[in-house]
Amino acid sequence: MKTILVEGREVTLGNIFCIGRNYAEHVKELKNAKPTEPVVFMKPTSAIIQAGEDIRLPDYSHDVHHECELIIYIDKEANSVSQQRALDYVGGYGIGLDLTARDVQSQLKTKGLPWTKAKGFPSAACVSHFISPKLIDDINVQQFCLKVNGELRQQGNTKDMMFTCAEIISYLSKVYGLQAGDIIYTGTPAGVAALQSGDELELSWAGKIDVKFNVA
Ligand code: MG
Repeated sequence: MKTILVEGREVTLGNIFCIGRNYAEHVKELKNAKPTEPVVFMKPTSAIIQAGEDIRLPDYSHDVHHECELIIYIDKEANSVSQQRALDYVGGYGIGLDLTARDVQSQLKTKGLPWTKAKGFPSAACVSHFISPKLIDDINVQQFCLKVNGELRQQGNTKDMMFTCAEIISYLSKVYGLQAGDIIYTGTPAGVAALQSGDELELSWAGKIDVKFNVA
C-alpha cells in the first residue's frame, strides 16, 4: 500500500485524480481545444514516488515530459459538495510532477484511446510532502516553479487556472465522489519538455515547499 506524507504523518494514498488542460498557455502549446468542463484522467497508485526516490523513464517512450503541478490532498469523504464548501474537504496541499510519455500519449490520442499507458508508469506521479491548508492565505494566487539542472523550465500561478481548486473538488465530488486519502493534480502551466537520464529537478512553491527529484 502506498503512503504520502501529510504534515509529517504517513497517510494511506487513495485515488490519484488528474486535471488536464487547465492552464490556457499549456493548452495552446499542445494545440489542444479549451475545455468546457474539467478534463479528468487517473493514475494508478503504483505510479507514486516521494522525494528521495528516483524517476525511472519507461523503456517504451523516448519523450517523457515534466508537468509541474499543484496537488490537493482530500481528507474526508466528499459527495456532491458545492464550490462554496469544497475547500473544507482539503487536508493539505503539495506540489509534484505529472510525468507524461508524450510520444505514447500522442499515438493514443490519435487512436481515440485512453492515456493510461502514457501517464501511469512507475514514478509517473512524483509528490512532495503536503502542508496544512491553514498555512495558505489564498490558494487562488499561489506561485510555483520547476528548475531542471538549475534552469527555470516552468513557472505557474494558480490564478491562471481555468478551473479553480474549489471548482475541481466540487466537480469531482459530483461525478466520482472523493474519499479521504485521494489526491488531485490540478494541471500544468506552459513550458513542458522532455527529461533525460541524469536530470536534476527542483520543484519550488515559494517559501512553502522545496523538493528535488533525480532522473535515474
Ligand atoms: Mg498534467
